[in-house]
Amino acid sequence: MNIVALETESVRTRPPSWQAIVKSAIRDSSQLLRRLDLASDPLSPPVEEQNFPTFVPETWLRRIRPGDPLDPLLLQVLPQSAEDSVVTGFVADAVGDLAAEQAPGLIQKYHGRALLITSGACAIHCRYCFRRHYPYDQAPVSMPQFDEALEVVRKDNQIDEVILSGGDPLMMVDKKLQQLIEMIEAIDHVRRLRIHTRLPSLIPQRVTSDLVNMLKKTRLAKVVVLHINHPHEIDVDVRQAMARLGECHALLLNQAVLLKGVNDDLETLIALSKQLVDNRCQPYYLHQLDRVAGVAHFEVPEAEGCKLIEQMRARLPGYAVPRYVRESAGESSKTVIV
Ligand SMILES: *Cc1c(COP(=O)(O)O)cnc(C)c1O
Ligand code: SF4
Repeated sequence: MNIVALETESVRTRPPSWQAIVKSAIRDSSQLLRRLDLASDPLSPPVEEQNFPTFVPETWLRRIRPGDPLDPLLLQVLPQSAEDSVVTGFVADAVGDLAAEQAPGLIQKYHGRALLITSGACAIHCRYCFRRHYPYDQAPVSMPQFDEALEVVRKDNQIDEVILSGGDPLMMVDKKLQQLIEMIEAIDHVRRLRIHTRLPSLIPQRVTSDLVNMLKKTRLAKVVVLHINHPHEIDVDVRQAMARLGECHALLLNQAVLLKGVNDDLETLIALSKQLVDNRCQPYYLHQLDRVAGVAHFEVPEAEGCKLIEQMRARLPGYAVPRYVRESAGESSKTVIV
């Protein structure tokens, strides 16, 4: 009897899987505001929400300060009416992704590395997202479709790095990811696997032991590029997830986007860099916002960004200062601003 009772208890208290956390995410802005004790709607949701709805997992919600309409984590996910403003210069495909597509889901803009769109899904909807208008419904989802996209890599022995991007590539279940990695490994001239993902900092439970083992096993060198914009995003579970990624001998990097009201402030950027480095993750890029339709209210002028970087340089070791970059369609690399 006792044993049965114990077993029931342990089943009941088992922490939810990352998939369950994705499933139970908040999907409308009024519910989000209610959960944060923000009774009235201070910023009025935009009409456009239907096309890019609110999507916030509990693990993110927990790091938002209740009652604060200006919380930097809330601002990243709460639709605002400003998204509907049409601003000159802000367009659907700001970075020329569609023109750089070599096969459905395979984007190559730069020498030696090709980017594979592996999943249209994300476990959060960042309001400033540069791919919010990308036609994900045309991206590959099945193994034969990935195989077709990888044909471009197979034929070009200059490509020694494959970047898994999305959406978020870690939205794929482990088994599918394993198959995809095996397909990439089978291409002899590919030496590095890069994963661009927000999931480890968003739902740290995603860094499962299966994922860790899979990454440990591959012959490819691993680079994992996280996406963390604000020090409040790093809690104890995220630190643990970062440590586990380090255990698979992955080089850990971070890219952040400079966002008005979120991290356009010297002390915030310094705290972010320090926390990253303390967790063995190097600040790689600080991106100037891509000028995508609906995100103009997040833009920080480049002159301000430059000043922030120069001030960071005066306070931090060189390795803790990210490269401040902009992406311009048709260029052979990201453009370093400073
Ligand atoms: C940003 C980007 C990369 C990666 O650029 P790095 O400078 O190597 O980090 C690769 N492919 C595409 C299409 C990109 O947009
Ligand atoms: S995680 Fe990245 S791709 Fe997904 S919504 Fe956020 S910015 Fe866009």
